[in-house]
Amino acid sequence: MVSGHLPRRPSWACRGCAEPWPCPAYRRRLRPAQQPLAVVVLTTQAVDAIRDLAEPPERVLRRFLWFTPLTEADCLAVLRSTGHA
Ligand SMILES: [Zn+2]
Repeated sequence: MVSGHLPRRPSWACRGCAEPWPCPAYRRRLRPAQQPLAVVVLTTQAVDAIRDLAEPPERVLRRFLWFTPLTEADCLAVLRSTGHA
């Protein structure tokens, strides 16, 4: 969706700029029209990142869905309802 700024697993650092992914450049380039598809793609990637990273899962999900109104508490509720937390 945003060329040049893609994640490297298992660190989830950006291949393009080494910032934690989704990096600032990725975030700036994600257009509003791309957001509906991005929710699906980024949620799937967030599940992989939750497995790779030693961070609270709700923090990881919030990081990946920064452009939504979800709070970390909302993310925790979603994760619990789907058996991921
Ligand atoms: Zn980047």
